[in-house]
Amino acid sequence: MTTPAIITVAITGAIPRKADISGIPVTPAEQIESTHEAYEAGAALVHIHVRNKDESPSSDPELFAEVQEGVRKHCPGMIIQFSTGGRGRTHEERGRPLLLKPDMASLATGSVNFPNQVYENPPQLIDSLAETMHKNDIKPEIEVFDLAMLYNAETLINRGLVRPPAHVQWVLGIPNALPARREVIEFLISELVDIMPGATWSAAGIGRHQLDVNRWCLELGGHPRTGLEDNIKFDRSRLAKSNAELVARVAEICAEYDRVPATAKQARLILGLTQ
Ligand code: ZN
Repeated sequence: MTTPAIITVAITGAIPRKADISGIPVTPAEQIESTHEAYEAGAALVHIHVRNKDESPSSDPELFAEVQEGVRKHCPGMIIQFSTGGRGRTHEERGRPLLLKPDMASLATGSVNFPNQVYENPPQLIDSLAETMHKNDIKPEIEVFDLAMLYNAETLINRGLVRPPAHVQWVLGIPNALPARREVIEFLISELVDIMPGATWSAAGIGRHQLDVNRWCLELGGHPRTGLEDNIKFDRSRLAKSNAELVARVAEICAEYDRVPATAKQARLILGLTQ
């Protein structure tokens, strides 16, 4: 039997909502409701950014705590992953929500250009986020936006800052970073198998690449990520209406690849999470 597919839903993201865009959950209540709908549709892992009242990206631990509590209550066993991403947050702020000990947190292992800015991840910050995760038993999701980040992750394992087996995510299709090409994902997988045996992987395809990348994940033995965070054209309009709609789309095509959506319990086993 093939490995069940862990469907991640990235519900919100860090790019501001525009008046003409509906469906992005912003307040904790909206985020909990949207996550619950996605969970019912087959998502086992939720990737969370929170927003201030003016919708700018926030690091307020109270907001993270509120969403975490609601998801734990309404989505039994669902894996909770906090973003430690930048965009409007200082380095210190980015690590703050980790004190709430989510199951997982994102860890980008290098800097990269985004369409209009640098996504800054200097070595000292990477070390400090990795150390905090290690100390608090939070499993990192290593975010690979560019090739060197994969090898940087291997170094973190060798230095004892990340416990193997690691979980790695390819982020494909952001202008200025890795393109969404099947050859790229195949190369990344072959390198991963070589340098980090036993590691698991997922992939996020941005914008119009989302569904293609979902399909490659299912076919090549990885885990798909979907959600409104990634479902964006770079003119900032959306391609889908809700997180649940996107999750349902992935859940439906699993069978074409002899996969089934993982339950939250199965997802925890696959990723080696306790509880
Ligand atoms: Zn994110």
